[in-house]
Amino acid sequence: MHVLGAVSQELYFPDMHLTDIIEILILTYLIYHIAMWLINTKAWMLMRGIVVLGIFVLLAAVFKMHTILFLARNSVTVLATAAVVVFQPELRRALEKLGEKQFLSSIVPFETNKESSRFSEDTMDSIVDAAYNMGRVKTGALIVVEQAIHLTEYESTGIKMDCLVSMQVLMNIFEHNTPLHDGAIIIRGDRIVSATCYLPLSDNMGLSKELGTRHRAAVGMSEVSDALIIVVSEENGKVSVAQGGVLDRAVTREELREKLTYIQNRKPENKNFLQHIWKGRNKDEKRTDE
Ligand code: ATP
Ligand code: MG
Repeated sequence: MHVLGAVSQELYFPDMHLTDIIEILILTYLIYHIAMWLINTKAWMLMRGIVVLGIFVLLAAVFKMHTILFLARNSVTVLATAAVVVFQPELRRALEKLGEKQFLSSIVPFETNKESSRFSEDTMDSIVDAAYNMGRVKTGALIVVEQAIHLTEYESTGIKMDCLVSMQVLMNIFEHNTPLHDGAIIIRGDRIVSATCYLPLSDNMGLSKELGTRHRAAVGMSEVSDALIIVVSEENGKVSVAQGGVLDRAVTREELREKLTYIQNRKPENKNFLQHIWKGRNKDEKRTDE
């Protein structure tokens, strides 16, 4: 008994509460995502630079090089400020992602999405028809379908328009050697609001090397917003779709339609997480009734 008591005193059993477990899970999730984010962006290179700098300071400490240590100590605040400036685009994207209405509204019920950003069945048909018609004749196109996040900043990089979406208009805009064909168009609801827009290029190093700037711009736009971006390749006529930083290459007509239908219907359906569960329950109940 004496021995057991001694052993149990030696061993440290921390008091585990439910909150501790939740904390561990949250930290695991955050660390995993930060690590993935570091690897996928240029932040990885900078990170390595910081590690080298850290090792250098450590060596200075071991060998008691006082001047170097003094300099290192005093430049910490400067370096921290510099890091914020250097990582500004990445930090901004991360914060924008956090603030995405879609993300928020799936947790908290207070967000009701704007009706204005929804589009009609006709608009969807026009987009799908135009994309595949352009693909057939190898006309390059870049179409941004705006959702909850307003893309005013990107809209202003192009030529402002106010035009109802139709297959003919879309095909005309992207026709070679016309004033509006370069860059991207932005569709808000049923209207084209801007053409020749310049989109941010993705710095995802995992993207295939055979993809050019049009595809990179599509992925880049989908990283900083909740928009759905349709790319028609000038080289091979294939239609690809970017959303949430992921590019689906060479999608079929049906797949494109499915994706558009999904974003068209998502808003009223997914008003919040609880409602979603409730709806799912109702659906299941109906199914079992049949
Ligand atoms: P494709 O398969 O059509 O050749 P790609 O991915 O290989 O596409 P590029 O050949 O580099 O891309 O396409 C260049 C065109 O992409 C430009 O003429 C321009 O219209 C468009 N583009 C390039 N960069 C951007 C950008 N940042 N924002 C908007 N449009 C862009
Ligand atoms: Mg190309």
